[in-house]
Amino acid sequence: MNLKRIEQLASLEPKSTMERMVKLQEEMGELAQEVLIHHQASGSSSKSPGVDGIAGECVDVIIVALSIFFKNGHTQDELKQLIEKKCEKWEKFQAKN
Ligand SMILES: [Mg+2]
Repeated sequence: MNLKRIEQLASLEPKSTMERMVKLQEEMGELAQEVLIHHQASGSSSKSPGVDGIAGECVDVIIVALSIFFKNGHTQDELKQLIEKKCEKWEKFQAKN
């Protein structure tokens, strides 16, 4: 993952944090739709998957979330540290359950 590229694109993006939040919700909706189509959920039979399907929408969500992260002044080092911290928390949770 080229975090520097995403950080640069995020800095050039004119959308405010609030606008990015709305965009994130849009992308979450697209991801939900792809999951529904993939699992042939009721009401989704007339819809077709997108070119990149679930994977592509996951990436859209990640990119928009990262643009919010960088827009709010956070750094790549913080991102790496927080991912490690959150994964450790997740591992502990899984070990208990
Ligand atoms: Mg999308």
